[in-house]
Amino acid sequence: MEEIYLDKNENPFNIPDAIREKFIAYVREADFNRYPEKGLPSLISSLGKFTGLEADNIIAANGSDELLDILIKRANGDIVFSSPTFEMYSFYAKNYGYRSVDVPLKSDFSLDADEILKHKDAKLIVICSPNNPTGNLIDRESIKKVLDSGITTILDNAYYEFSGENYTDLVKKYHNLIILRTFSKAFSMAGMRVGYGMGSADLMADLKKLQAPFYMNIMSAKLAEIMIENYKLVEDNIKYIVNERERVYSELKDITYKSDANFLMLKKDLFDYMAERGIHIRKLPLVKDRSRITIGTREENDRVVSAIKDYMEE
Ligand SMILES: *Cc1c(COP(=O)(O)O)cnc(C)c1O
Repeated sequence: MEEIYLDKNENPFNIPDAIREKFIAYVREADFNRYPEKGLPSLISSLGKFTGLEADNIIAANGSDELLDILIKRANGDIVFSSPTFEMYSFYAKNYGYRSVDVPLKSDFSLDADEILKHKDAKLIVICSPNNPTGNLIDRESIKKVLDSGITTILDNAYYEFSGENYTDLVKKYHNLIILRTFSKAFSMAGMRVGYGMGSADLMADLKKLQAPFYMNIMSAKLAEIMIENYKLVEDNIKYIVNERERVYSELKDITYKSDANFLMLKKDLFDYMAERGIHIRKLPLVKDRSRITIGTREENDRVVSAIKDYMEE
């Protein structure tokens, strides 16, 4: 029985062949002896066009993790976030010796904006939407309520492409906002480490000062650009994954939560049960009796559905 890995919310598809060919053509000719162009203006400009923002509203980085690191380090004080959520927020807070202030999501996984706003000395607020691991989008009105506080706020939008909800219009209105996105999920590029942020020109310029001038290698930057140029191919994979997500959810409604991302949270901890069947899913040590499963290929998802149905019948 082949082992399958549905634990890290990776894309089940490698980069499309046509893109791989273009990338290889680039690698054949690349000047590896030279430093990248300072600030990677070509990547930044292509991200600007792609998102419909100006280049000075964009920052790129070695994975969105690098931006989380820089933003949290610079906050130099209390970091507020809402559990259950992505562990890297508390990881970096702890690294720098800052206090993590957890304002848990409500029981329906919505944001408790009023409770967040009670922490007036917070230096940074992190909102994850669609949220990992619960999978739901956070309602726009509650995000705006938090942004109205003026406190620097990260909107971690790593699963944007699977959600159909675009928050970029908020960048023009709120100077304290940075939206983070990544090439690790929808773009099949987890191994290349490319992420980007969108926010006010002032905030982006501030962050760029904290970044090394040659922050990304030329291959990662180039592949990201080729991906953007061929976004149609990326979109085909996104549609496939979203269709599969809805199919798996409808098969397993009784034991999963609805999701706007490329994973489903299970209402049970099936980590060990699935591992015995060669299916590796994510254990959620901080969330009792739950686990998380990434949407894979149709064949992988069929194995998941049949294993979980067997479990429910037992
Ligand atoms: C996967 C993920 C990221 C992506 O991080 P990268 O460093 O860009 O790979 C960011 N935020 C959340 C919530 C994620 O689940």
